[in-house]
Amino acid sequence: MSYDLIIKNGRSITGSRIEIAINAGKIVKVSEQIDADSKEEVCLDGQTYVSAGWIDDHVHCFEKMSLYYDFPDEIGVKKGVTTVIDAGTTGAENIHEFYDLAKQAKTNVYALVNISKWGIIEQDELADLSKIKEELVHKALRELPDFVVGIKARMSKTVIGENGITPLEMAKKIQQANHNLPLMVHIGSAPPQLDDILAHMSKGDVLTHCFNGKPNGILDKEQEKIKDFAWAAYNKGVVFDIGHGTDSFNFHVAETALKEGMKAASISTDIYIRNRENGPVYDLATTMEKLRVVGYEWPEIIEKVTVEPAENFHFTTKGQVKEGYDGDLTIFTIEAGQKTLTDSNGFTREATEIIKPVKTIIGGVVYDN
Ligand code: ZN
Ligand code: ZN
Repeated sequence: MSYDLIIKNGRSITGSRIEIAINAGKIVKVSEQIDADSKEEVCLDGQTYVSAGWIDDHVHCFEKMSLYYDFPDEIGVKKGVTTVIDAGTTGAENIHEFYDLAKQAKTNVYALVNISKWGIIEQDELADLSKIKEELVHKALRELPDFVVGIKARMSKTVIGENGITPLEMAKKIQQANHNLPLMVHIGSAPPQLDDILAHMSKGDVLTHCFNGKPNGILDKEQEKIKDFAWAAYNKGVVFDIGHGTDSFNFHVAETALKEGMKAASISTDIYIRNRENGPVYDLATTMEKLRVVGYEWPEIIEKVTVEPAENFHFTTKGQVKEGYDGDLTIFTIEAGQKTLTDSNGFTREATEIIKPVKTIIGGVVYDN
């Protein structure tokens, strides 16, 4: 038997030895040891980790936008990320243009279509309800079924104007008309009040910016505890997603939640060119380091950038190192080191473990980091 590619002498995040064979872009064998010929071999040192390719489920990577934009490969393959989901940068009117560019990237790019028809062309895309054209969203979903994996609604003060909870009700209606496809909801300053937003969300809906430090967040700052309605949403199965961003990740909120036993389901960056170049985001690895200093263990951190986002966005061939799955892998090291990490509110923590992608494999093609 000969393979296209074999990864030799790797280590899984739980410490076991792992070797992986890939043919025609798909994982065809996973074992402790694979002895066979291959056209290409990546031989590791037994200490370097291999996981399913990292998935960042909240990014902005349509380069033609001016507010939030980036280039898929700058935040993807170059950063150990094999798959990104653009979270509503575009709407039904401009998503085709995004698709044409995105499919040229080495990184796997998917999109959530913004319920507002031009996406985040301006900061207040949901202030004018006439921009939410249900039929246009259905059309985008029909025309780009392999690209659009869900819908996005940004539910915070500057975005919705005077519209209160109405845009979310419209988003839920669109979702229900499309086989309950994934819905991501951004939160921030009120109105709408967070308890009202959460009351409208269902099991499986993704709440991004879950650990933001704003007054309208999940933390009751006087009582120093997580608000009851946030716990109620968490317990009913609303998916808590980090969506770090320029303004939306606070160490203290994440730490308080963890102390009470509440964890984010998925770790994502909300990255775009400015918070990549100037911080505080930089990349997915740095965001993962932040959850490590909060107190998450590395194996669960890896799950939160692989299995979890794959499940939440219904990717049936990604997120696991398993026969039949896509040949997307991230090869990385975790080493002792020193690094000051800064959250969105300027608070810092000292990391003592540094995670660093060294190779990114996408569809069986190997890229060095
Ligand atoms: Zn947002
Ligand atoms: Zn965003």
